[in-house]
Amino acid sequence: MSESRSADVLARLGRVLTPNYRPTLVLERGEGAHVYDAEGRRYLDLLAGLAVSSFGHCHPAIVAAVRDQVGKLAHVSNLYATEVSVRLAERLTEMSGFPRAYLCNSGTEAVEAALKLARLHARKARGEDRFEFVAFDRSFHGRTFGSLSCTGQPNYHDGFEPLVPGVSHVPYGDLDAVRQALGPRTAAVIVEAVQGEGGVRPAPEGFLAGLRSACDDAGCLLIVDEIQTGMGRTGRFFAHQHDGIRPDIVTVAKALGGGLPLGALLTSEEVGAVFVPGTHATTFGGNPVVCAAGLAALGLLGDGLIERAASLGSRLTELLEGVQARNPELVREVRGRGLLVGMELTLPARPLVPRALELGVILGVAGDHVLRLAPPLVVDEADLEAGVRVVETVIREVE
Ligand SMILES: *Cc1c(COP(=O)(O)O)cnc(C)c1O
Repeated sequence: MSESRSADVLARLGRVLTPNYRPTLVLERGEGAHVYDAEGRRYLDLLAGLAVSSFGHCHPAIVAAVRDQVGKLAHVSNLYATEVSVRLAERLTEMSGFPRAYLCNSGTEAVEAALKLARLHARKARGEDRFEFVAFDRSFHGRTFGSLSCTGQPNYHDGFEPLVPGVSHVPYGDLDAVRQALGPRTAAVIVEAVQGEGGVRPAPEGFLAGLRSACDDAGCLLIVDEIQTGMGRTGRFFAHQHDGIRPDIVTVAKALGGGLPLGALLTSEEVGAVFVPGTHATTFGGNPVVCAAGLAALGLLGDGLIERAASLGSRLTELLEGVQARNPELVREVRGRGLLVGMELTLPARPLVPRALELGVILGVAGDHVLRLAPPLVVDEADLEAGVRVVETVIREVE
């Protein structure tokens, strides 16, 4: 009987939702690194809801914080303040080292705010008419028009043109191409410290530092999109800290809300100061329930989870390199940082995902040939080992 419940939900979904997504699984609850479907079957979540559920599913501290806040006050507009949103911003600015935060509801909104802030800063603070952006091939920054226009994946643009004008894309890692693309109208360069959706590609050695000086020379801002890589996932609070640089604007979301929708832009006093009343706003941004979840999540990060991401990340990479060594004809490369790891295959990655699901493991992909693993930071080593055994099983089956 229960076997038909998932099928029933999926059939109903197919009748009422626009067909953007084609899920094959109905999930009902989660605990730590595991989720359970409508039939009670358990899955190891090695994708963490696309790098969102870093603290595991239903972490008791986050659940308690949300329950408490939703019973007190669930929403106020930004015409009023709540202490919980201020406390979140205090904690976030303290942990990130950036003194100013703007709160929103998603990654794409954080990017959108960053692009708008860069233009406004050029015009209002510097009196320069800078409105162009330099972004990278294979980048991903979101799906609203501004962020989509910066996204360097033509298949995501298809059918939505014309895009926002003034964006140029250059190869990731190519500093000469960046310097050529920069000009007196450039407002900002936007870059991921590890390209996530574009195939889990860490910035080449020295690239981010080179971008920093290219932006300084050109008089434009550097925006680092840490939506996927931030919040400790790579073993530092931000992935760009591995490279010792300081961006002008950083965007975060995904794991920030501890599983609830929270995004943020972080910046300096000087740049943040141009967002005065009336310039940019959002109804839900800084929502007290979501901020309570984010505050609890940041508390957990401070308890050693970032170090855990670093050490477990090394272990995961080592395990996957073992798979590569045993299957050199199937695995091209293992790469990533911390608990964001990609395995580039010689075969298409997408068909492996449903097969791994049958074996009880949720995997992701990033492009046609790359399996993406972004487990919760609370995952344990035995689960990683079990998950990697499934990875090896499914890639070998395809032969
Ligand atoms: C997921 C992602 C976004 C978009 O975030 P949404 O919350 O889906 O809007 C932007 N940039 C990067 C690097 C991402 O990984």
